[in-house]
Amino acid sequence: MISILKKIFPSSNDRTLNRYERIAEKVEALAEEFKALNDEALANKTAEFKSRIEKGESLDDLLPEAFATVREASARVLNMRHYPVQIMGAVALHEGNIAEMKTGEGKTLVATMPVYLNALDGKGAHVVTVNEYLARRDSEIMGPLYNFLGLTVGLNVSDLSKEEKREAYAADITYGTNNEFGFDYLRDNMVVYKEQMVQRRNFAIVDEVDSILIDEARTPLIISGSAQKSTQLYQMANMFVRQLKKDTDYTVDEKTKNVQLTEEGINRAEQMFSIDNLYDYQHVTLNHHINQALKANIIMHRDVDYVVQDGEIVIVDPFTGRLMAGRRYSDGLHQAIEAKEGLEIQRESMTLATITFQNYFRMYNKLAGMTGTAKTEEEEFRNIYNMDVIVIPTNRPIARDDRADLIYKTMQGKFKAIAAEIEERHKTGQPILVGTVAVETSELLSQLLTKRKIQHNVLNAKNHEREAEIIENAGQLGMVTIATNMAGRGTDIKLGEGVIEVGGLHILGTERHESRRIDNQLRGRAGRQGDPGSSRFYISMEDELMKRFGSDNLMTMMERLGMDEDTPIESKMVTKAVESAQKRVEGSNFDARKQLLQYDDVMRQQREIIYAQRQDVLDAENLSDIVLRMIDSTIDRIVTVHTPESEVQEEWNTKEITDYVNAVMFTEPVFTEKDFYGLDREEIIEKIQAKVHAAFAEKEKQLPAEQIAEFQKAVILRSVDSKWMDHIDQMEQLRQGIHLRAYGQTDPLREYQFEGFEMFEAMVAAIEEEVTTYILKSQIEQNMQREQVAEGKAVVPSDKAEASKKKPVRKKQDIKRNDPCPCGSGKKYKQCHGAEQE
Ligand code: ADP
Repeated sequence: MISILKKIFPSSNDRTLNRYERIAEKVEALAEEFKALNDEALANKTAEFKSRIEKGESLDDLLPEAFATVREASARVLNMRHYPVQIMGAVALHEGNIAEMKTGEGKTLVATMPVYLNALDGKGAHVVTVNEYLARRDSEIMGPLYNFLGLTVGLNVSDLSKEEKREAYAADITYGTNNEFGFDYLRDNMVVYKEQMVQRRNFAIVDEVDSILIDEARTPLIISGSAQKSTQLYQMANMFVRQLKKDTDYTVDEKTKNVQLTEEGINRAEQMFSIDNLYDYQHVTLNHHINQALKANIIMHRDVDYVVQDGEIVIVDPFTGRLMAGRRYSDGLHQAIEAKEGLEIQRESMTLATITFQNYFRMYNKLAGMTGTAKTEEEEFRNIYNMDVIVIPTNRPIARDDRADLIYKTMQGKFKAIAAEIEERHKTGQPILVGTVAVETSELLSQLLTKRKIQHNVLNAKNHEREAEIIENAGQLGMVTIATNMAGRGTDIKLGEGVIEVGGLHILGTERHESRRIDNQLRGRAGRQGDPGSSRFYISMEDELMKRFGSDNLMTMMERLGMDEDTPIESKMVTKAVESAQKRVEGSNFDARKQLLQYDDVMRQQREIIYAQRQDVLDAENLSDIVLRMIDSTIDRIVTVHTPESEVQEEWNTKEITDYVNAVMFTEPVFTEKDFYGLDREEIIEKIQAKVHAAFAEKEKQLPAEQIAEFQKAVILRSVDSKWMDHIDQMEQLRQGIHLRAYGQTDPLREYQFEGFEMFEAMVAAIEEEVTTYILKSQIEQNMQREQVAEGKAVVPSDKAEASKKKPVRKKQDIKRNDPCPCGSGKKYKQCHGAEQE
């Protein structure tokens, strides 16, 4: 029945697949013709395509032949011929969409077709991976194929010199990491000579696209330099926050994980720091510190969000459970946590340039992506990135047996059952991969298994060095592996000898993640390329997800069924209910991201304006026009302020104008107040302009044009860069402050947009004034060297304070002290696993 309906009403995915199938058939139809070519003739296709592009043929026109060329070359060079489904995936990528292809389907090979085609017009094609190991590996494996076809391949990694970078980007095809591509963009916009720029952006294929464009979408890439600021304020803010009482002084929104001071809390702050109004702009820094101290003390939990190691705070990635050594929470949160934990507060670093992955990748002319799991996020991809998610069928049918969830009433019942199930399967020798959402669950389970004398490996934050090795062996006979849900993503689990006979790899999920996508990734680790395998998730009504988002209906249903602790129910209805809970969380996470995107957009627009102007300055050979525009606008501003239309002309403060112009634009006073008597606004402006322009022209005559231009360039760049960097800092602080301000009736986003715009205008004014002064008043240096205002280093901070909003992992708080311990020992939690927290 369903299949008949499907035929009558094909989904849009089906329609697209049909179209792709026809294109794939065209490519296949060319196979014999291309097979007949000798190596040289095949390689010569590249030159032929390039000249046809020059004569006006489009990439779309060339697609079938270009793909057929890659396919044949791949068969010869790599000994792999693209499967029809892989050609379909390749078309999806060429069209700027996301190809959802299961793990093991050969995405690396799929990418070669669109990469080759889109590199033909000489604008460069980028292949983006999540780490350098993968970038290097993929470029080495696929390099010979491109080289055979006469295209060059570059590898963009972090330790290259400028020269090597430029070379990597100049190649037809560039492999690299998302971090490095983003950082190069930022660094390019900090250079003082245009010859130092390295990057171009045309077409990119992003591997593991969901991880980069959804999970990490809002992660800011930051170039930072350190600023010496007082660490005392962190300690004071921390001390202050410690005295506060929940609900009286602050409130916590459990759903969004937002902390907010109450009126009472604000009063206490004002008393403690002896100020009138915490929300005055002059207190923005203090306000910021208090806010971070609140977050550090109330939202961020030790051993969940971060661990303390050798006197340092090390962040735990909420998605993978891995320790992220060297990463720091941005914006003072890290220092606030250091204050909370009584550690030495590290020097605060200042952001010199920043961009989120989302905004970086949206700058490409064409963007495509591939991953095993994207469908659940298709709305977000379409909305934010204008990319469709196309689910490409697998080459061989999936043989994995995905069982319905088992739902237990209590956590204890659930873990007992999980341990029993592992023991049962382990007896047969079947390898089992147990997925957990939190490090603690891994440990708890590990203890349970040890008790049952089941040998196993634990793969989590605490021994991630052995991660790759462990996961590689997870498919061997008799292996039991416990891993936090995404640890070792992308690593192949090959089945060992005799494993197929016992049913392949079994995946056991100990809890559902709030995102279905993450659950799907876990499942996808079994049953690769048609291998047998199975999967099952275990749930308890005490799981965070169920408590936060499970419906009351479900609980009533469970009650009605009269369940005891140890009897699970396995029902489609319940699985559906769980899924709808997940959908609700996904929806609310998406909404949250959409909201935040509007905040990011303010900075994006400002950055684009500044970077474009900066580029103009770098490119210009003669800057007189640019300088004059800045001078005029400075004159305009001062005159306008002091000649308000609301006042009669006689009341205008021409003294202020006179003093300002004399001070800012001339080395010696030129005007007196009287000069402006009786003039209207326009006349005053013209009068000032006349003299200033004359002085400027005089200056320009003093040295050869080239030297003048060099001097002007140096002055402008220095001014723009230093003010812009300050501005970034200010905007960050404003953004934090805005949330505290959301107290009254104001819409924080509109407030942020409005104030952000005002601050931007103020910055532009400050730049123009500074440039005006230096150009008109300073002695022109003859051999001016342009210098960067600050040396920065690249850091990827993980603002997991934001990310923690979508994180239900709060195990420790869920179990009450007197509850039985979920490990099944029969002891009370406080006397068992809860003991170390007492
Ligand atoms: P994915 O990234 O989709 O998980 P990989 O790119 O790692 O998959 O490829 C999985 C394996 O399949 C690799 O060992 C690759 O060499 C192999 N493979 C992919 N496509 C083909 C093909 N058309 N013919 C033969 N082997 C292939």
